Amino acid sequence: MSAKIIDGKAIAQDIRNEIKAEVEQIVASGKRPPALAVVLVGKDPASQVYVTNKRKACHALGITSIEHLLDETIEEKHLLELITKLNRDDGVDGILVQLPLPKKIHEPNILEHIAPEKDVDGFHPVNVGRLVANTPALRPCTPAGVLEMLKRTGIDLPGKKVVVLGRSNIVGKPVATLLLHESCTITTCHSRTCMLNDITKTADIVIAAIGKPKYVKADMIKPGAVVIDVGINRIDEGLVGDVDFENVKKVAGYITPVPGGVGPMTIAMLMYNTLTAYKMRQRG
Ligand code: NDP
Repeated sequence: MSAKIIDGKAIAQDIRNEIKAEVEQIVASGKRPPALAVVLVGKDPASQVYVTNKRKACHALGITSIEHLLDETIEEKHLLELITKLNRDDGVDGILVQLPLPKKIHEPNILEHIAPEKDVDGFHPVNVGRLVANTPALRPCTPAGVLEMLKRTGIDLPGKKVVVLGRSNIVGKPVATLLLHESCTITTCHSRTCMLNDITKTADIVIAAIGKPKYVKADMIKPGAVVIDVGINRIDEGLVGDVDFENVKKVAGYITPVPGGVGPMTIAMLMYNTLTAYKMRQRG
């Protein structure tokens, strides 16, 4: 048996096409397109690549991209002033501050300063609270991308046993919460979890978000299970996920590759959130 490969690139392209069509309609009706402001502090090479990819994605979909490239010596109070300005700017729908920030800047201060209705990363405590309460809000991009992938692949979710590996604020906890709202039964594992193999073996769906190359092995997976690999690890042989793809695919029913799985979904969901923020703000 070999698992069906879930093609994140193709699913992400479908989402991008849908967004592009909606933006075209907005512009055709005489309104301005949605606008995303991206703030980058310093010259971290990985962050520069992410910001470039976000700009390209905006341009491809007709979304306005506004970039603020700041020197790493910037004072926290000046960064806060910029966020205040963007919060008040009626022409800006989404604000994204590229992480990580220089050590001397306290990240939570910055993230909590972004207006929740413009928080397209979904990290503001108000949006975290709304996620837990399952009320309308901007959802964090990677977890929302994982859910969208499962739904668009036709995986039936209610009643499924899901094991999430990782409990970070940006992936593990929100993805577990989103799937709980889909009536899955959730187990969240972390670095102190005992007998991990016994737990993962019971799962209908395994979501790996631990940042350990090829950590999830074939003998940890129930035959036919769905395996979603969020991990991105750079090793000598190239980019790999948290799942031992070549061997796990012989056991699983469905599996996402790395690259080409969850990664493209994250940026598609950022574009989706920018459009959603625009529509929410237009409605008032
Ligand atoms: P963090 O480092 O913040 O969290 C890792 C989590 O994994 C922690 O909760 C940790 O447990 C847990 N963990 C570590 N080792 C084990 C283990 N052996 N068994 C079980 N749990 C373990 O990482 P992130 O959540 O930010 O990211 C996870 C991965 O996903 C990374 O590879 C990252 O690059 C990738 N990523 C990919 C994205 C995409 O777009 N595809 C977006 C965001 C992240 P504890 O809490 O006990 O320390």
